Amino acid sequence: MKLTIVEYPDRRLRLKSKEVTSFNSKLHNLLDSMYPIMMDTNGIGLAAIQVAYPLKALILNIPDEEGEQPKENLLEIINPIVTLQNGETIYQEGCLSVPKFYEDIKRFETLTLNYQDRDGNTQMLEADGLLAIAIQHEMDHLEGVLFIDKLSYSRRKKFEKEYKRMQKEQKNS
Ligand SMILES: [Zn+2]
Repeated sequence: MKLTIVEYPDRRLRLKSKEVTSFNSKLHNLLDSMYPIMMDTNGIGLAAIQVAYPLKALILNIPDEEGEQPKENLLEIINPIVTLQNGETIYQEGCLSVPKFYEDIKRFETLTLNYQDRDGNTQMLEADGLLAIAIQHEMDHLEGVLFIDKLSYSRRKKFEKEYKRMQKEQKNS
């Protein structure tokens, strides 16, 4: 399955993703195809809508202490629901759909997640640190929300200006 990353301001990023009901080979193909594209683009998380599939599915691979992302650390999260969230943390986030732009975003510090794996089995996960941040970032994608939506009005204005300039430069080069 050949996938490409959908980039802002593509309207598909605003779609609300649908619950996954069939844990079949189609889903497995999608997940298997999302993994290399995330790794090739140096991502730590990718939601299905970012490759144009509006499904409640996302993958995460948080770098370990050495900065490595071995495949055994890959998490495949289907139909996630946050059941607990606590604390507050600020982290400089980026997004494969908003390339080359980073901003400080406020998130919950810890959370508990219920989700399903690729075979539809119910799983539970307690997360903190970068994993908790990445889960919230990717779950926002499932609701059609981007991290830039969380910026203040003036920072958002600045972003729009910078982003347009970068896109122009990219086209010219
Ligand atoms: Zn993102």
